[in-house]
Amino acid sequence: MDQLLDELNPQQRDAVEATDGPVLVVAGAGSGKTKVITSRIMHLIQKGVSPYQILAMTFTNKAAQEMKSRVERVVGRDARDLTISTFHSFCALFLRREIAHLDRDSSFVIYDTSDQTTCLKRVIRSMDLEEKHYPAQKMRGKISYIKNTGDMEGRLSNEIEHNIYRAYQEELLAQNAMDFDDLLHLTCQILENFGEVQERYRRRFEFIMVDEYQDTNQIQSKLINLLLGEHRNLCVVGDEDQSIYGWRGADITNILHFDTHYPGTRVFKLEQNYRSTQPILDYANAVINQNKLRKPKKLWTDQETGLPVRIRDEYSGGIEAENIIQEIMGLRRRHDLEFSDFAVLFRSNALSRMLEENCRKYRVPFQLIGGLKFYDRKEIKDILSFMRIVVNPRDWTSFARAIGVPPRGIGAKSQDKLYTYFNSGLDIGEVMARAIEDKAFGGRGYKGLVAFEALYRNLVAWSKEYKPSVWLGKLVKALDYKDYLERLDDVGIESRIDNLEELLTSMEEQEKQGIETLSQFMDFSALVNDQDDVDPDQPRVNLMTVHAAKGLEFDTVFVMGLEDGVFPNQRTLDDNPNSLEEERRLFYVAVTRAKRRLYLSYARSRQTYGKVNRNIKSRFLKQPIVNPDQEPARSTGRPRTSGRWGSLDDQVGKMEAKLSALGAKADFSNVVNGGGGQDSSGTVSLQSGDIVEHASFGVGTVSLVMGRGSSQRVSVHFRDKRIRTFIAEKANLKKLG
Ligand code: ATP
Ligand code: MG
Repeated sequence: MDQLLDELNPQQRDAVEATDGPVLVVAGAGSGKTKVITSRIMHLIQKGVSPYQILAMTFTNKAAQEMKSRVERVVGRDARDLTISTFHSFCALFLRREIAHLDRDSSFVIYDTSDQTTCLKRVIRSMDLEEKHYPAQKMRGKISYIKNTGDMEGRLSNEIEHNIYRAYQEELLAQNAMDFDDLLHLTCQILENFGEVQERYRRRFEFIMVDEYQDTNQIQSKLINLLLGEHRNLCVVGDEDQSIYGWRGADITNILHFDTHYPGTRVFKLEQNYRSTQPILDYANAVINQNKLRKPKKLWTDQETGLPVRIRDEYSGGIEAENIIQEIMGLRRRHDLEFSDFAVLFRSNALSRMLEENCRKYRVPFQLIGGLKFYDRKEIKDILSFMRIVVNPRDWTSFARAIGVPPRGIGAKSQDKLYTYFNSGLDIGEVMARAIEDKAFGGRGYKGLVAFEALYRNLVAWSKEYKPSVWLGKLVKALDYKDYLERLDDVGIESRIDNLEELLTSMEEQEKQGIETLSQFMDFSALVNDQDDVDPDQPRVNLMTVHAAKGLEFDTVFVMGLEDGVFPNQRTLDDNPNSLEEERRLFYVAVTRAKRRLYLSYARSRQTYGKVNRNIKSRFLKQPIVNPDQEPARSTGRPRTSGRWGSLDDQVGKMEAKLSALGAKADFSNVVNGGGGQDSSGTVSLQSGDIVEHASFGVGTVSLVMGRGSSQRVSVHFRDKRIRTFIAEKANLKKLG
């Protein structure tokens, strides 16, 4: 026990020993908040508390597993009786036991987001409403937000929407189903209304802890409150600078007002960071200091020396990914690291494809956390199944998939019928022709088959006539595939369409490398699909979104895709300033995952979403310069690179030189005064980062201001992703923010 406490600094030790009453630990990244929770659990057990009476809530399953295994290593088998889980899995378990109190059956099903949308569509149709006025996906978002925040009026705009909400709930009930949000709601409902149940749980959980408290929403904090007994032994830890779920209804006031909510709260602040070196910490602090809506915080480390943060300016997204993977291979060799010491973080899943392809190319084992591998995603598999049957008319599995995209009324029985033809030695085309001739089955299925057969013939003919990318375009159109995705899904309708366009991009790239036919492309995608070379026990490079990386740490972290419109994400640029601050907190989360090495990169052009976008580097990279006297950056000296991993100071120097060559006077605080764009009230001075509106091109972000007076030029990055340059005086740009 002494050893356990000896490992902690005095503030941490105080927080661990303060086991009675409400406790709040607020501290920056890497200061040992999660360690306080795990140490507290062990401390309680060593003091004789039964693990059965301890509840710890975390945010992700991965975090829960990690916490459990850390405790297990110290306390052994006792850890089995602990409850360490996410909010959702806690509630699911609770409801399986207790839902009878609401006269419901414990065999309820849990609807995921796509089931929810399907259900909402049915509801909206049955109310004789037009889906275009009440898109199911939007309604799902609204309903979820209401359930998470309780803010009914703020989100539902009229009586009809209230009715949809009510009808949706009835439909769920009729099917004995519940959505993720209901898990929390119904749990609270039972605890609130059935005193005996509440008593039982309150008696059981004598010690409650919550990690990442800054990301809890109203209903989650309510649940904790309902579970908390008279003893009020509640310890929450969090960091408001890492609050990144506001868009999903997380309520930062839960942590900010914790001490008013629980009078007598003891507050502990941790200031020593144990994770990162000084240069990384300085960089992280410079990032978060740009946010206005925050309380200043001190963080220090005794790991004073360290490598400078490196920034790399890449020509394209493809080269960026390749350089990252090569750098990982080199670092691993030179410094005797494991692949699992590396993480590559990105803003959204669509950015992972290039990384995955390069990992495969260089045989670097990887795991994509919190996302399906690109070629395993539904939309990609759908499309590939059409390619497969064109290339190989005996691929029954792909045929069985393709014929249901979109559904054509050909059910299992009809498919069995078709299979008997196939079994007699016919290929897919022949099977369909014969089944149509024989009228093998009737009704809607027959019509569906006739249509599918005609489509199939076209697809075969097109494959001989057109190159793969054109073929793909024709397929998507013929299937009305985007519309199908829209009708089908939600969470990720946007990312599904992004992925589809990514597939197109990938094809175009392969065509540039000489691929001409679908079958060659199939070979390529089958190869990248090949997981055989990955040994499951071998350590792997971690590829994940920043959201998924919350709470984790790695020796070396790469944050890629640091371009305006990508990270920060375009939607947050168009939105209010709060969401830009949330986006910056997300960047802060990303950079604070690094222990010893931090690499940041951006690409001037990125071929995502099916087209080439010219991008400017992220505004987040324009921090005040820190640690100018750190070890100078060394060139890695590798071939085929468009640049090198320069340190921050290098980078600024390079840009300055470039600008002065253009005759521009810009400084890197990006404040360029002088006559800028005008509006009706006179001259407005513009600086990069400003949001402006142009009469014909709409809203955009100023990316560069050059020169002065009448010769001043302003470049603006518009929402159509194009950068246009204007003579400032004449452009009539209206400054919005
Ligand atoms: P985040 O805000 O990212 O969730 P955190 O505050 O939860 O970070 P931890 O993950 O608990 O921080 O700790 C960061 C790292 O520092 C871990 O590797 C942890 O083991 C180590 N650490 C924490 N406290 C100490 C300590 N007193 N002595 C040595 N190492 C420590
Ligand atoms: Mg933590």
